[in-house]
Amino acid sequence: MSVDVRGKTIVVMGLGESGAAASAFLARRGARVIATDAKTEAELGRAREHLATLRALGVEIVSGGHPPELLRAADLIVLSPGVPPTLDALVEAHRAGVPILGEVELAARFLKGLLIGVTGTNGKTTVTAWIGDLLARCGYCAHVGGNIGRALVRVIEEVHDVRCVVVAELSSFQLETIQTLRPRVAVVTNIAPDHLDRHGSLEAYVAAKRRIFRNQTEEDWAVLNADDPTVRAMVEATRARVLFFSRQADARIERGVLLRGEEIVLRWGEHEHVLAHRSDIPLRGRHNVENALAAIGGMLAGASLMDPRGEPEAQPVALARALAVREALRAFPGVEHRLEWVARIEGVDYYNDSKATNVASTLVALEALDGPLVLILGGRDKGDDFTRLRPLVAERVAHVLVLGEAAEKIRAALEDVVPMTRCATLEEAVRAARRLARPGMAVVLSPACASFDMFENFEHRGRVFKDAVRRLAEESPEASREGGDRW
Ligand code: ADP
Repeated sequence: MSVDVRGKTIVVMGLGESGAAASAFLARRGARVIATDAKTEAELGRAREHLATLRALGVEIVSGGHPPELLRAADLIVLSPGVPPTLDALVEAHRAGVPILGEVELAARFLKGLLIGVTGTNGKTTVTAWIGDLLARCGYCAHVGGNIGRALVRVIEEVHDVRCVVVAELSSFQLETIQTLRPRVAVVTNIAPDHLDRHGSLEAYVAAKRRIFRNQTEEDWAVLNADDPTVRAMVEATRARVLFFSRQADARIERGVLLRGEEIVLRWGEHEHVLAHRSDIPLRGRHNVENALAAIGGMLAGASLMDPRGEPEAQPVALARALAVREALRAFPGVEHRLEWVARIEGVDYYNDSKATNVASTLVALEALDGPLVLILGGRDKGDDFTRLRPLVAERVAHVLVLGEAAEKIRAALEDVVPMTRCATLEEAVRAARRLARPGMAVVLSPACASFDMFENFEHRGRVFKDAVRRLAEESPEASREGGDRW
């Protein structure tokens, strides 16, 4: 299945993490690589950091566009997930017979070990990281990659042991271009209307997600959210064995990881095995209960393929008994920038939820945290309706601090339900929050906006917030940065 790239002329489109990783990977395997990007070199921002390394490997960089004649003359085109497959020059090259592979498909062709793929609208990163963490804590060799900040080719280049599992976060954009990629375990978290701008319709978006099952066989596993009707219906789309997860102990589920009252159980036909307790879930919020169930399901299915024990049909049950799932679950530290606890200062908890770049995510955060809260909102408006925040803000938020381009729109949406203060910088907002918050309250950065008006990306915004909080902590003798009693 592997592609022989030695001596071939390969155009890699897009110079972000995936494109840079793919270019380096191919150059090291003897290909003549031309990496193109629609942005000029000056516009590339942080991606410019890769350029020197790539040039040293012999990669030719073409910025400011994807020249059609280069694409037409290539032996192979490798696409980054950010590049729309509908670009004219690309369609033309495809018609001229040039093969096109997405970056994750390229990685799949070289993958040696077992692949677990995670897709869905929300919770992909959390579930991907959590499956990797559970597997590692249960004694397996596991690596994570894909859409999660590290390109899949980068991970695959480092994993030489066939006994290792690679857990990959797969976006619908990445799934659109897969051909042979076969996740032995495919996890689908949930489906909400999202990214419709690029996929055109909900059906097209669901169809892209469904591609995760395309190459699965009866020997594989699909781990599906039974509480989401669109995901539940995917049973029809896969040949794989199905393991559900659900926050309800729905009697119609034959096999699944379920929340039954306060217990997390593995149901296998007639039998139910208690895996853990709800209070063992170390992350806040109902959404993280779902993510935990999905992660346990993905982990048990993956482990059963790597480490077969007992009857072939009931291996996850044998593993559920043998592995210390509860201890592993409790130990997960969470993912940075997603309701991440930062510090407790004078009885006030500070949370970094910089990943909340839309209203829906901020609502998830408000649901998950007990009030009263001081909430930091604002940034670049993505056309969201901030009035949707009104009920929960009125219920849980004592004060809103607003910043960035969207400040005025947010003020207009919320000013009659909550006291608000405008701040010029995030550091100023953190200092204002400290003055406003009383012991027992929490301060949360959950901006409901993109970050690009003031920061490079949401990660940068989250780091600036954490640095500001840590400076407060250093000024305060009673501050704690240990996670001890945070939940
Ligand atoms: P993704 O990688 O799919 O964007 P993340 O794990 O990074 O997902 O979480 C991003 C945001 O999505 C979180 O901050 C939270 O607001 C929301 N979220 C996470 N998990 C879920 C879930 N299971 N259901 C609904 N929303 C979720």
